[in-house]
Amino acid sequence: MLQNGITPSGGSRPAIEHFDVLFVGAGLSGVGAAYHLRQGSPGRSYVILEGRESVGGTWDLFRYPGIRSDSDMYTLGYSFRPWEEAKAIADGPSILRYVNDTADRYGIRQHIRFRHHVKKADWSSADARWIVEAERTDSGERVRFTCDWLHMCSGYYNYHEVYDPGFAGKESFRGTIVHPQFWPEDLDYKGRKVVVIGSGATAVTIVPEMAKDAAHVVMLQRSPTYMVSRPSEDGIANFLRRVLPSKLAYGIVRWKNVLLQMVFFKLARKRPAKVKEKLLDEVRKLLPPGYDVGTHFTPRYNPWDQRLCLVPDADMFQAIGKGSASIVTGEIDSFTETGIRLKNGEVLDADIVVTATGLKLQLASDIAFTVDCEPRDLSRTLSYRGMMFSDMPNLSYSFGYTNASWTLKADLTGQYLCRLLNHLDKTGTEIAIPMREAGVEEVPFLDFSSGYVQRALDILPKQGSKKPWKLYQNYALDMFSLKFASVEDGVIRFLPRGAPAAAQPAREREAA
Ligand SMILES: Cc1cc2nc3c(=O)[nH]c(=O)nc-3n(C[C@H](O)[C@H](O)[C@H](O)COP(=O)(O)OP(=O)(O)OC[C@H]3O[C@@H](n4cnc5c(N)ncnc54)[C@H](O)[C@@H]3O)c2cc1C
Repeated sequence: MLQNGITPSGGSRPAIEHFDVLFVGAGLSGVGAAYHLRQGSPGRSYVILEGRESVGGTWDLFRYPGIRSDSDMYTLGYSFRPWEEAKAIADGPSILRYVNDTADRYGIRQHIRFRHHVKKADWSSADARWIVEAERTDSGERVRFTCDWLHMCSGYYNYHEVYDPGFAGKESFRGTIVHPQFWPEDLDYKGRKVVVIGSGATAVTIVPEMAKDAAHVVMLQRSPTYMVSRPSEDGIANFLRRVLPSKLAYGIVRWKNVLLQMVFFKLARKRPAKVKEKLLDEVRKLLPPGYDVGTHFTPRYNPWDQRLCLVPDADMFQAIGKGSASIVTGEIDSFTETGIRLKNGEVLDADIVVTATGLKLQLASDIAFTVDCEPRDLSRTLSYRGMMFSDMPNLSYSFGYTNASWTLKADLTGQYLCRLLNHLDKTGTEIAIPMREAGVEEVPFLDFSSGYVQRALDILPKQGSKKPWKLYQNYALDMFSLKFASVEDGVIRFLPRGAPAAAQPAREREAA
């Protein structure tokens, strides 16, 4: 659909395309949300604006050795499309293929505009529409679209910048420094001495993989992370797939894994000391006798205060056992010409240093949001059902779980979006807006002690102390709330075009 706008001076403006729904991002979430729209609210026009040249987001961007999921594909896969490969902990290229195949199979790719990086979004109360401005990354040209609903599937971190802990003397190092987010395709590490800084999922993936070819790999960590080893293939899943129809087998295994994860998480929160002991016992059994588990594998926090690191088929422990990898726990003093000096005086020689020190988190891709040209700061809003922002009309976002697979929540969000859109039709209204209530206490958006979460709390919205502002991080509760509970909850308002409350944040409404 095309609209030809005329500027106040009378000159003609480039045509602006209009879509019922505009998605930002063609990663796992964007492709999934487009599928749900097609199924749950068919007949609506939609476009996906994608800043890059390809589908897949995270799974296309990250190319470091061994890149893989750290949760199982029966829950990281879509609810509507069985994961049919043998490995439950899958490598990055397989996941990328799965997202691409989904985009092709359901005719989603033809709705994607690649190289369109969204920069601005302005809500027009008069038209009950978003005006979205994107920059074409190939030509620099600015293009505009309008849409009735804007759904953000832009992920949670910056694609171009990473977290930099600011190590002293980095520039004096004569070897190669790489960040996993920008892995050089031609990096040859065969027979080289490597130090990987970090102890999160990325470091735990890279270390055993590089250890296969490098002279030696040191994982240098400031403090340890809980690690748990599981087989990369799920025997039950592979058996069920042989004897049951693929969709049924997938559904059963998905629920098995959801429930196991929920029980384990609950147990960790209720009986942290017991769970800690069990995790450390398991680790001890996988390491050489006498290994110093206390120093290198015993975190300062309780299990699930931060994300657990999954070790498929004990590969990390095997690399340590073989002597091709080792762990050093200590604080960095500075880089030297030939390696890294620790605060305790120890020096680690390196040809290559991998800084697996973390992502730079970002909310809604740092897009400049305005309502009737008035800037709105999303970090000052309350998150509504973990998918909308208080006092922001017709705007939703996809944000996965911290304690389970991302896609579980992304799927529910896509389905709930359809329920909202259908409810607008049914009630003859055009605007859905969660109205912030008085007396709801603000709570941090994420309850995780990890550095990358703590560093980002200021830029994230807050959650509320009660329903529907509270984030449960619990698939079963969310399923009930997003799939079955009424969308009319007394908090979200469905309004006709031009309703003044839709443009007014709570502070102004209270003052009026
Ligand atoms: C290395 C790594 C491993 C992970 N492993 C797991 C795992 O095992 N399990 C799990 O649950 N989670 C995992 N995650 C989290 C992971 O990001 C999510 O699982 C999932 O891939 C997120 O999908 P998404 O589509 O929401 O975001 P992304 O994959 O980040 O995709 C966002 C897309 O939006 C585009 N975009 C962003 N901003 C704009 C803009 N302004 N305009 C246009 N386009 C834009 C990007 O180019 C990108 O294509 C992992 C993350 C990383 C980094």
